[in-house]
Amino acid sequence: MRDDDIAFFRSLLRQRREDLRLQSGASAEKRKPVELDQQSVGRLSRQDALQQQAMQNAQEARRAGELKKIDAALARIEDGEFGYCAECGEEIARARLEIDPTVARCVDCVD
Ligand SMILES: [Zn+2]
Repeated sequence: MRDDDIAFFRSLLRQRREDLRLQSGASAEKRKPVELDQQSVGRLSRQDALQQQAMQNAQEARRAGELKKIDAALARIEDGEFGYCAECGEEIARARLEIDPTVARCVDCVD
């Protein structure tokens, strides 16, 4: 892969990582344990608050999974392995990487 392509995907991945971290920071308050004190949750019932917290936690888990994939892709860039299939070693189609730059396998090797 050419240097400017690598630079393109590196900045794409870093931008995505930054976005996820910002989202994560913004939702930290909502993921706090639900207080027993009803006042603190305002008009929401405790049940609603728990449901919202569960949803926020699920989103946070999804973000954590995505961050892991992004870090792995950035590590592949550093190792010079980015853009090559982890399974067969063939180049991964650029269009495929543009859709998701964290993919580590070519379209033939994905189960
Ligand atoms: Zn492959």
